Amino acid sequence: MIAQPVIAIEGVTVRFGGTEALRDVTLHVNAGEFCALVGPSGSGKSTLMKLVNRLVVPSAGAVRVRGRDVGQEAAPVLRRSIGYAMQSVGLFPHRTVADNIGTVPRLLGWDAARIARRVEELLALLRLDPGMATRLPRALSGGQAQRVGIARALAADPDILLMDEPFGAVDPITRRELRAEMRRIHAETGKTILLVTHDPEEALELATHVVVLRDGRIEADGAPAELVAPDAAPFVRDLLGGGQ
Ligand code: ADP
Ligand code: MG
Repeated sequence: MIAQPVIAIEGVTVRFGGTEALRDVTLHVNAGEFCALVGPSGSGKSTLMKLVNRLVVPSAGAVRVRGRDVGQEAAPVLRRSIGYAMQSVGLFPHRTVADNIGTVPRLLGWDAARIARRVEELLALLRLDPGMATRLPRALSGGQAQRVGIARALAADPDILLMDEPFGAVDPITRRELRAEMRRIHAETGKTILLVTHDPEEALELATHVVVLRDGRIEADGAPAELVAPDAAPFVRDLLGGGQ
């Protein structure tokens, strides 16, 4: 059997009114890849990521996840099988950390004891204090909230993880720690990870596959070393800080 990509985006154009957010984009991501989407603000990174869990629907082209057209699957079912850490963190403000992390497991009908065990495990994985489970999001620092957002995305152990600038609101030290956490999680679980970042250093450090977007088109797509090579396109080299 020929291995097929876990995520296949085929010739997709996305229009929002008069804006073309993506233009004829084709991207294949294989199982276990850590794929970083980089590019200037407004280049279409978030839109491209949201195609995968159908928060955005293509105007043209097709999106397949695990070989199935995402339009053929009920959106809630699809979304329960794909972890998503949003750009804005988006924790439910009136729910405790434990309840936030347990969102998808509850929808899947896990019993309370199993959810509690999973919450404990995830707090440990993200190096958060177990006592944090009963706190409300407003009692967390920016970095803690982002860790909880990632824990929530991981809760039901999805094999695909989407992360949209998940380390945005944190100081450089926490950022470095979270990066190390993500590298470890990828190495230990072999999940397919899609990461949007505006930080080229982060992309080059974490990703096995880097996709550079510009004005809704894929400008480059390859291994980090290929994209910073002397013969890479100048836009790509400049963006990624070529010569590193
Ligand atoms: P990035 O994540 O790279 O900053 P986005 O994917 O968010 O870029 O946006 C790409 C383009 O599409 C931008 O011009 C943005 O204004 C536009 N856009 C994104 N989402 C919407 C939307 N829901 N409605 C209208 N325009 C949108
Ligand atoms: Mg974005």
